[in-house]
Amino acid sequence: MLTLESKDLIHSLASGRCPACGKGKQPRNTFCAGCYYKLPARMRPTLYRRLGNGYEESVAQAMQILKRSEFLMPQVPPSSPGPSVPGSLFAPGEVRP
Ligand SMILES: [Zn+2]
Repeated sequence: MLTLESKDLIHSLASGRCPACGKGKQPRNTFCAGCYYKLPARMRPTLYRRLGNGYEESVAQAMQILKRSEFLMPQVPPSSPGPSVPGSLFAPGEVRP
């Protein structure tokens, strides 16, 4: 059975990619609407459990029902060092008293 880590679930939840089919989804939803409605109605509320309180198991079970053996992670953009701020704190030519 698929083992899911909390950090992966949090990452996936926050993303806009469905972990079951790879299509777009609403951030904060576990699956896209298509996958969500493929699940049995009694199963859907279990996806609103809290992490560490059955959520991981519910998602793993849902993946089985959707016949997905792989939990698709959102694409992570390559980490960039971020914009560097050249120069000093003060603008050139600024006169300090
Ligand atoms: Zn989906």
